[in-house]
Amino acid sequence: MRPLIRAVINSHALRHNLRIIRARAAGARVIAVVKANAYGHGLVSTALALGDADALAVARLEEALALRAAGIGARTLLLEGVFSFGELAEAAHEGLDLVVHDATQIDLLERADAVATRCALWLKIDTGMNRLGFAPREFPAALARIRNLSPAPRELRLLTHLACANERDDQVTRAQLERFRVATRGIDYEVSVANSAGIFGAVPLGCHWVRPGLALYGASPFADCSAQSLGLQPVMTLESSVIAVRHVARGESVGYGGSWVAPRDSQIAIVAAGYGDGVHRSLANGATVLVNGRRAPLTGRVSMDMLAADVSALNGVRVGTPVVLWGEGLPVEEAAQHAGTIAYELLCSVSPRVPLEPR
Ligand SMILES: *Cc1c(COP(=O)(O)O)cnc(C)c1O
Repeated sequence: MRPLIRAVINSHALRHNLRIIRARAAGARVIAVVKANAYGHGLVSTALALGDADALAVARLEEALALRAAGIGARTLLLEGVFSFGELAEAAHEGLDLVVHDATQIDLLERADAVATRCALWLKIDTGMNRLGFAPREFPAALARIRNLSPAPRELRLLTHLACANERDDQVTRAQLERFRVATRGIDYEVSVANSAGIFGAVPLGCHWVRPGLALYGASPFADCSAQSLGLQPVMTLESSVIAVRHVARGESVGYGGSWVAPRDSQIAIVAAGYGDGVHRSLANGATVLVNGRRAPLTGRVSMDMLAADVSALNGVRVGTPVVLWGEGLPVEEAAQHAGTIAYELLCSVSPRVPLEPR
């Protein structure tokens, strides 16, 4: 029997999205961001499906080690770098690329002698995100220290991260780019600037390497522009089934707290999907699901293992009828909007009890 709830992963869509990104990024090399279990899509299987990417990126050393343990030897960038000598030694042993964003990380490299020469370094400039990286005024000193490492690092590149690229033609993005241009003037290293929003945004970003995450998974980073209109296809479809059908008389309520009261005699489908699976409680506020491919509004609260949908308008709904929570036919961005969050968070929060299945 198929599991009641499952995240069906379409690796054709993943590769299609990589091709769309490549075309859009006009010759830049593509670093496929697979942190957080590949945004919930499965770290190793996603990395394998994206074998055509020029590199992978993760946030934590453990994620990179899991890739190596699975035999994936691709260039792998640690987006937050390393924080101890032990981590640096492991990263060097695995030949990882390291972001260097803080003076303490340069301290480590200086004390590590030859260890660090096994790593390519990506020096990060903070151009306005104010999260990680050297401020433009600190950057020359940081760069000088990196250049003085002896022996020299295997490779050196520069990167920055955009705070507002998901807003169309944004002044913040233009200001960040200008700061980056000024800080790196006359310095001839390859650079990486764009995340998904940067790649598809209106502001042209010249860079040698792009770092898409969300777009690979077929979701749009823009509120005013669908993934479909960007040519992207959803990779994850979160599917489950109806496990009970109830007739609820007008005036009766459904679920915890009796928060939904039937305005008329209704037919309600109980679906095996809840916040224990990563289907947020806040989704109840006006979201719909697809029951047998047709939209049905949620009714009442989402509970841990179940939710309820009003299927009064639909025929033939019975135990076993398939339900889509998001994915093909129902963009995850739409569900996220109803839940008061972003597609990133819904995708990442699919819980470990939900099996990932290839399409
Ligand atoms: C997560 C991350 C990305 C990918 O961002 P998307 O918006 O998912 O494309 C790129 N760069 C850095 C530094 C990141 O942390």
